[in-house]
Amino acid sequence: MEPFRVKAPAKINLFLRVTGKRPDGYHELYSLICPLALYDTLTLNVGGKGIVVICDHPGVPEDASNLAARSARLFFETVFADKAPPVPGLTIHIDKKIPVGAGLGGGSSDAAAVLKALNNYFGQPLSTQKLMALGTRIGADVPFFILGAPALATGIGDRLDPFAHLTPWTALLVYPNEAVSTAWVYKNLNLRLTKDEKKLSKFHFDGRFFNVDEHLVNDLEPVTEMAFPVIKKIKRLLLEHGAAGAMMSGSGSTVFGLFADAERAISVCTALRDNQLNQNWTLYVADLLI
Ligand code: ATP
Repeated sequence: MEPFRVKAPAKINLFLRVTGKRPDGYHELYSLICPLALYDTLTLNVGGKGIVVICDHPGVPEDASNLAARSARLFFETVFADKAPPVPGLTIHIDKKIPVGAGLGGGSSDAAAVLKALNNYFGQPLSTQKLMALGTRIGADVPFFILGAPALATGIGDRLDPFAHLTPWTALLVYPNEAVSTAWVYKNLNLRLTKDEKKLSKFHFDGRFFNVDEHLVNDLEPVTEMAFPVIKKIKRLLLEHGAAGAMMSGSGSTVFGLFADAERAISVCTALRDNQLNQNWTLYVADLLI
């Protein structure tokens, strides 16, 4: 069969509130998540033996731990469990454009793209609901990418309500080339949860109207900022350059600024890129996919 290509978008969290911790150690969230027009491209080739991943990004594993490989294995185990002929082989080539360990969900998106692509390729043996349930076993953000549209997430981020009330925004993303471990951020958040309880209770979101001034809040930001003070600096710069709001996405370290005017976002991107002091940052301009 011919190899085929699929695109895996990034995401940002427009707000992310940590609402509690479960006995099993997972944190419960309330988050508004939106896909972005910044994509990894995956080329899938069904055939041969075993699951092979090819990716030239140094931060992405090419072994069985790659989230795209894990989701392919899970799909095959589920769909081909007791069938002959034997499980097919698969080669996945990942052209990585989404920065790694950046809070933009790149690994989870690759995993979801593989689940959706294989399900289509093999004639949709699994319902979307079943695919999402498989995705949860790979990572909390995977069901969101299977849905592929703005959503309010609760639970550990896996319970999703589509959110249709966003207005168009262009995001200017600044990745300061600092990979952040999500596990580290959650471990250190525990210390702050009690301190910030008052602040937590002040969040009013009616489930409909997203307001940049009021609702752009990320409980993980102060934690990541402790280790990477550059986050505060980027936020300040984005606001000084006219962003309507600026915040870290997910567990970081990417900071996004929201612009109503795409041209303005592009010119600010050029200005920040040209500044000699910011040479180790990577910048992207991407529309929210609403
Ligand atoms: P999140 O916002 O979901 O926490 P992130 O952007 O912080 O995501 P990812 O880029 O998804 O983080 O990668 C996190 C880790 O997963 C990295 O340490 C990376 O080595 C590993 N990983 C495994 N598979 C992939 C993949 N296909 N793409 C990117 N990273 C992967």
